[in-house]
Amino acid sequence: MRRRGRHRGWRGNSAGRRLSFLRSRRSASNMLVRGAGFADTMSRYLIRRIEDNPAIGLRTHTQIVAAGRQRHLERVQCATTDPADVETNDIRHVFIMAGAMPNTGWLERCVVLDDKGFIKTGFRTVARRSGRARWPLTRPPYLLETSRPGVFAVGDVRGGNIKRVASAVGEGSIAVAFVHQVLQQ
Ligand SMILES: Cc1cc2nc3c(=O)[nH]c(=O)nc-3n(C[C@H](O)[C@H](O)[C@H](O)COP(=O)(O)OP(=O)(O)OC[C@H]3O[C@@H](n4cnc5c(N)ncnc54)[C@H](O)[C@@H]3O)c2cc1C
Repeated sequence: MRRRGRHRGWRGNSAGRRLSFLRSRRSASNMLVRGAGFADTMSRYLIRRIEDNPAIGLRTHTQIVAAGRQRHLERVQCATTDPADVETNDIRHVFIMAGAMPNTGWLERCVVLDDKGFIKTGFRTVARRSGRARWPLTRPPYLLETSRPGVFAVGDVRGGNIKRVASAVGEGSIAVAFVHQVLQQ
């Protein structure tokens, strides 16, 4: 199949929040999801907003396979799981929301990570399933403290962090206060 149309394109589950704020109905927007859908990973209210917006088209089992341009992005090729099912659309804006992978492989033997590689902090470090690195002190870990006493983690790399600039900055300032407490002990 080969068709041409004029769309904006989004891809991935975390696009839901951005996409749901789309108000314009003059141009269509497509949400491309590689899997069967996002019912398991997106809040119901967001799904409803997307479903209720006639300007948004949901395309499952679909991914971007090529992008074409002269001076800027002009067209995008999308494909379903069927290799013959490639479609070309005139798209000038693509927002990729494909998730994040923390760069923490080098920390594996140093602090406890969760199953996605984010650093566990606070009470999570002493939870029963925290792995081999056990909390060695009688006092509980501070809020942002890792499984290694006196070592703190803040921002996106921390498990449970709200992935926002304000969170990262706020956690940084809180961690400084805890560092002072640890140094006084
Ligand atoms: C597309 C996109 C849009 C976003 N929009 C918003 C928004 O509108 N509002 C908002 O509040 N938040 C937004 N965010 C989230 C926001 O960017 C993050 O929450 C914030 O940047 C987290 O700050 P951080 O310092 O924890 O991590 P980062 O900003 O990711 O900084 C981590 C730094 O560590 C470096 N690094 C990684 N590994 C190593 C290593 N081994 N050694 C040394 N350095 C290393 C990286 O290169 C990077 O510079 C957005 C994120 C993305 C991806």
